Amino acid sequence: MKVFVLGGDGFCGWPCAVNLADRGHEVLIVDNLSRRKIDIDLEVESLTPITSIGDRLRAWREIGGKPIRFEHLDIAHQYDRLVTMLKTERPDAVVHFAEQRAAPYSMKSSSTKRYTVDNNVNGTHNLLAAIVESGLDIHIVHLGTMGVYGYGSHRGATIPEGYLKVEVPQPDGSRFEEEILHPASPGSVYHMTKTLDQLLFLYYNKNDQIRITDLHQGIVWGTNTEATARDPRLTNRFDYDGDYGTVLNRFLMQAAIGYPLTVHGTGGQTRAFIHICDSVKCVQLALENPPAKGERVKIFNQMTESHQVGELAKKVAALTGAELNHLPNPRNEAVENDLIVDNRCFIELGLKPTTLDDGLLAEVVDVAKRWADRCDRSRIPCVSAWTSTQAEAIKHPS
Ligand code: NAD
Repeated sequence: MKVFVLGGDGFCGWPCAVNLADRGHEVLIVDNLSRRKIDIDLEVESLTPITSIGDRLRAWREIGGKPIRFEHLDIAHQYDRLVTMLKTERPDAVVHFAEQRAAPYSMKSSSTKRYTVDNNVNGTHNLLAAIVESGLDIHIVHLGTMGVYGYGSHRGATIPEGYLKVEVPQPDGSRFEEEILHPASPGSVYHMTKTLDQLLFLYYNKNDQIRITDLHQGIVWGTNTEATARDPRLTNRFDYDGDYGTVLNRFLMQAAIGYPLTVHGTGGQTRAFIHICDSVKCVQLALENPPAKGERVKIFNQMTESHQVGELAKKVAALTGAELNHLPNPRNEAVENDLIVDNRCFIELGLKPTTLDDGLLAEVVDVAKRWADRCDRSRIPCVSAWTSTQAEAIKHPS
């Protein structure tokens, strides 16, 4: 297969691109390197030292990997170049990671809210319009999030893989059954852009029969895959700061440097998780099992385990001896929630999940402890608040 990996320099995109090349696919990474520029603006760096995209690709070639090409392009604002590339290269599939992906960053200011909406919604729409204009039958695999459903309103119901059966009452008193997109309830501007992506996909799939797989991914933890561990120059990024660090990786890093684990609110928030190796495998499985022409958007829940944040912190503390620190919650969200998720599709396709129990300690020792001296402790606190009330609570904790 010839595959474009949009956002292929990022945390999920880089190991995914390398894995696809390793399996013999022809890979072209498209990225505007905006994530690296945001690090410069925020004055923070990945805990792991990452090389430039040029050095990554050279290293991959030098160790015998199938060459990966790179195109520096902004999919949200360089539409004509995107169409030309599709028409010239004629890829079989496009994996779309190229979005601003941090909820706290999206809530930082009106400027980051507007940037996130502009970048994410325009980027996704440009891709869809460009595929229609190219006239090619290209399968899109998009990385969405479990967060599109919100957290807290399911009252114990299982979240299905995308669609919900409803009974619609008719004027004559009869009822007919219909399947609709599961209702969305975004909890941040970032999550809102992901719910808008869903509608864009629904429309272009219905109107233009674009083949789409939307992967509703849980929070990714871990750093390297077998392929990115083959050479230090291939190392993947590890975000730990208050804006981009994801909860479990933050706990692991905090434990490694002796910083009390930052549990926000009661810790009763339940979230879905997946290891980076499984994320990469799921994207590969989705590419290898595309929907047929005319089939509705395929939606998979790409997660392997659900955990309460407080319980997760206790697990990390039990493994490492770390202390817990309960802090005010900067997010406007339910104090506690259940999260029961149907993830049968990937398990049936052969995914063998990496569990927390298998991988946590190795991650603390191999990555977090190894690079602990690169950590800037002043960047650990979460300072982006969802509302002015939350901003006050963070400034003056009781
Ligand atoms: P990331 O920020 O590390 O990577 C995104 C990449 O896309 C970056 O390299 C960035 O430079 C690029 N990019 C952004 N806008 C672009 C544009 N307009 N044109 C070209 N390139 C652009 O993020 P990630 O953690 O790898 O996440 C990738 C995708 O997976 C995102 O869409 C995210 O919503 C989704 N996801 C991630 C997680 C997670 O825990 N990391 C969880 C669920 C879903």
